[in-house]
Amino acid sequence: MKIKTKLILGIGAMFVMVVLITVIGTIYINKLSADTKNILVDNYNTVDYSRQMLIALNENGFTNESISKFETNLKKQQNNITENGEQQLTDELAANFNRLKNNPSDSLLFSTVHNNLTDIMLLNMQAIERKSAVAKKTAGNATLWMEMVGACCFLIAFVLLLNLPGNVANPLKELTASIKEIAALNYSKRLHFEKQNEFGELAGAFNTMAQKLEEYRMSNLEKLMMEKKRIETLINNIKDPVIGLDAKKRILFMNDVALKISGLKAEDTIGKLIQDVAVHNDLVRSLIQELFTANGEQSPVKSEPIKIYADNKESYFDKQVIPIKITPTGEQEEKFVGNVIMLQNITPFKELDFAKTNFIATVSHELKTPISSIKMSLQLLENEQIGAINEEQKNLVNSIKDDANRLLKITGELLNMTQVESGHIEISAIATDVHEILQYAVDANRVAADQKNIKLTVTAPASLPAVFADKDKTAWVLTNLISNAIRYSYDDATVYIEAKTNANKIEFSVTDSGQGIAPQYKEKIFDRYFRVPGTKKEGTGLGLSISKEFIEAQGGSIQVDSDFGRGSKFTVSLNAVPV
Ligand code: ADP
Repeated sequence: MKIKTKLILGIGAMFVMVVLITVIGTIYINKLSADTKNILVDNYNTVDYSRQMLIALNENGFTNESISKFETNLKKQQNNITENGEQQLTDELAANFNRLKNNPSDSLLFSTVHNNLTDIMLLNMQAIERKSAVAKKTAGNATLWMEMVGACCFLIAFVLLLNLPGNVANPLKELTASIKEIAALNYSKRLHFEKQNEFGELAGAFNTMAQKLEEYRMSNLEKLMMEKKRIETLINNIKDPVIGLDAKKRILFMNDVALKISGLKAEDTIGKLIQDVAVHNDLVRSLIQELFTANGEQSPVKSEPIKIYADNKESYFDKQVIPIKITPTGEQEEKFVGNVIMLQNITPFKELDFAKTNFIATVSHELKTPISSIKMSLQLLENEQIGAINEEQKNLVNSIKDDANRLLKITGELLNMTQVESGHIEISAIATDVHEILQYAVDANRVAADQKNIKLTVTAPASLPAVFADKDKTAWVLTNLISNAIRYSYDDATVYIEAKTNANKIEFSVTDSGQGIAPQYKEKIFDRYFRVPGTKKEGTGLGLSISKEFIEAQGGSIQVDSDFGRGSKFTVSLNAVPV
């Protein structure tokens, strides 16, 4: 039965009972009131009138006053006839009294009137007794009815009291507990209210909701699992090694190639802290260096290629550590969630690069000998050892000489570059006289400077300490810097070449007042093959990059200051030999 029906029935029944008690009580009280009123009006008054008449009769002498008193009460009695036989007795009394009035000394008549009065009183006394018995019975009935209805009320209230709180509170308690379970993601929770009441319906609705949530979760889970599988397959199919880390540097995934090149197994890595794995693995150790610097959460890091023995040969990989940041749903700020370490296999490019370097090395080496013999032949022609040459021929010889020199410079640069690229820069640093280096570099550029009428001003104190350097390579660098200064200067300019001490360093500088270098290219000019766009002069774009490699290989540094449009100053700094 429904709770609502139960409540309606229970409270309704109690309401009916209360109404019943009220009605029964009212009826019986009215009845009792009527009964007592009857006794008072019908019989008590008659007894009182009879008593007054007896008093009047028994007064000394039969006076007018006593007669009038008797007649007044007799008249009242005649108007108050209520019992059977009372009319007859009253009529007899009136007749006998009239006779006694005419014959007051008749004692027989006196006692007859007396008897008539006591008979009337007796009749009414009996009526009072009979009516009070009826009233008593009415009171008894009223009590019985009230008790019966009261008992029913009590029974209904008792049943409600026993059942209702439990009927309402217990299912509510169970419902609260079940909602908490659902909130804790236990979607398998169900309610089992057997009864066919509102709670039964509630349980039905709750169970449907829980089932739908469970289905939804399962379908979402399935989708997520599918997506996870898809991404795992994707990562595993990437031909390059990929390692995923969470924000605490725990390994989330390592694709098959990453496992293969590192010689690790998935079960030894997934879920472990990468630094713990790195303890036993050299490759992992070299991969995670940046992660433990401040940059770990910042921008992607690109470093030097790393050499790994993979696929039965030496392989080269470009490492990239990419910080992963996401904006959580409903939030504004990005949150760092981990890193992805990617290794790009650049071995094929490296192999091509090696082949190119070898090719250039071979070609430039092979070219050097014929160029040298061309130069020697030109020397013979110039010296007129094999016969005199005319002015036109002399000009031709000079132009061939220029070209041969240029070719020699280019092959020299290319050879140097192959040295740099293959990492075989041979440095033999010794204490070297600074003036000697300057002299060599200036002499090498003298002709070129003269051609453009450029003045080379050298400033170098005689007291300069020796520089700790590879003489040939440093001289080559300075030659190259002066050559650039001349080439990128206007005619009739001056190029300032200076050497000085700065702390425990020797600083060489070459300053020109040429076209200068735009700020955006200041760093790039040291890159291999880079030439400022629009540069008209001949060149390979190798000179400065080789210079940088040569100087840095000696523990020094090279830098440029340039005022775009007004000139540049290149400074080379090398260790001075302590005096
Ligand atoms: P290149 O053979 O082209 O001179 P470099 O490596 O020596 O190669 O120089 C790279 C580029 O830097 C040049 O192409 C030129 O654009 C610029 N550069 C070098 N030196 C100077 C200079 N003194 N003044 C202006 N630009 C210069």
